[in-house]
Amino acid sequence: MSTAIKPEYQKELFGQPIGLYILFLTEMWERFSYYGMRALLVLYMTTATIGDDRGAGLGWTSKEALALYGWYTMLVYVMSIPGGMIADKLIGQKKAVLVGAIILCLGHGVLVLTDIWAFYTGLGLVILGVGLLKPNISTMVGGLYKDGDIRRDKGFSIFYIGINLGSLLATMVVGLVVAEWGWHAGFGLAGIVMVLGLINYIYGQKYLTHVGNLVEAKDDPNEISYGKLYSKLFSSPTQLTFTVILALLSGIGWYYLDWGYGLLFLFLTAIAALLMMIYKELDSQAYKDRFLVLLLSFIMVIIFWGAFEQAGGLMNLYTETNTDRVLFGWEIPTVMFQSLNAGFIILFATAVAGYWASRKLKGKEASSLFKMALGIIIMGFGFLFMVFAAMEFEKSGTSSMIWLVLAYLFHTIGELCISPVALSFITKLAPVKYASLMMGVYFAATGLGNKVAGIVGESATDYGEKTIFTGIVIFTVIIGGLFIAILKPLKRLTHGVEDQERDLKHEEAEGFELADD
Ligand code: GLN
Repeated sequence: MSTAIKPEYQKELFGQPIGLYILFLTEMWERFSYYGMRALLVLYMTTATIGDDRGAGLGWTSKEALALYGWYTMLVYVMSIPGGMIADKLIGQKKAVLVGAIILCLGHGVLVLTDIWAFYTGLGLVILGVGLLKPNISTMVGGLYKDGDIRRDKGFSIFYIGINLGSLLATMVVGLVVAEWGWHAGFGLAGIVMVLGLINYIYGQKYLTHVGNLVEAKDDPNEISYGKLYSKLFSSPTQLTFTVILALLSGIGWYYLDWGYGLLFLFLTAIAALLMMIYKELDSQAYKDRFLVLLLSFIMVIIFWGAFEQAGGLMNLYTETNTDRVLFGWEIPTVMFQSLNAGFIILFATAVAGYWASRKLKGKEASSLFKMALGIIIMGFGFLFMVFAAMEFEKSGTSSMIWLVLAYLFHTIGELCISPVALSFITKLAPVKYASLMMGVYFAATGLGNKVAGIVGESATDYGEKTIFTGIVIFTVIIGGLFIAILKPLKRLTHGVEDQERDLKHEEAEGFELADD
């Protein structure tokens, strides 16, 4: 064993690189601000302009509020694609996180103001800030570990606890602050904690010297050139035809739906074209297959979040209007129910990760793809409890909060099987130079899931909650089952990337870059 003094970034705490805890805390405060604000959003928009004791709201209908909520929560994550590209190509992940954090402080700060322009500007800044911060901080976590280091999955589970600690604190505290001092105090609190996140990140730079740096390779033939990739599209007939078809469909969407959808579809067309060209450029079949299986797994991601994200929208409204929230004579604020998910994550994250690790050691099925498919099914079952809640409401005009607790419990176990697993999976499978872009595409998939959730939630006005909840149970179980049915061929496409994981911690204690330089 070497007796040389280790540089700061090689130091460890509880067997994990110390940089993990810096990223953990930064993300914890960022998620506090995000979820604190998100928990208020629909409720603030639907509160009447004459207000209640929380102050004036925007007086929107629940349909209008859920529509904006859907666009907002989608854009927050879709912006991860440009966020990832900026990091890969221009400033590296570490600086992108810094800039994102600063923009987030500004965005939450603006939301303190009561004017409607401030509302839209604040949301816009939060969208940009999260887009820069979220994918890149996640890629940096992956960068702390070497290929095949068995600690990586665990590292992501720890990071995920940080995310949910932020969310838990936010939904507990913000609800109380709003009840006492009104909406804008709640928004302000989100801003203050984001400043804490920024300070923590700046302070922790010495632990992160080896991750998230831009690979400066001006003369390198491997340097990323999105322009070049797009120009090659015109000499690639199959990819070009596919792109044109998608662009035409976007035009139809623009015409029949509205310009928002049209723009979204065009943006996705441009991304699809880029992904096809990257696929074509990859220089080995193994890389190509891994890239493909990653994209296929994103279908599960969209479906999962499309159902799961009813939490902040439809289930939030359901909690507010249809649920008996009185416990020992105290009416629990609606916002606090959002804490259940985060609380359960913190309680069960290590148990779920441990369960999968022990299955892996016993040689049983524990691939990321399997976990993800099972996650969808478990989460889907959670909605069965919401069906029971809706049935009780139909009968008695109110429903017990136990249904919500059980639903969130199942949602959480499902989430633990898919979300930290997917983050880690991406850092294993994505081609190194496109790591941030692929993380961005992943978050965009979760963002599309958020949009789907909004659309599904809105349709409850027409079809009723019970029908929506029942539909979600059936659909998710079928999709999860389908992916399990095709698990074998899918796993073959990973070329055993998860079979080679071992304990590297004691083999070598060198720092390294995610991107090789
Ligand atoms: N709850 C997780 C987070 O905030 C997942 C979000 C997502 O992937 N859309 O990080």
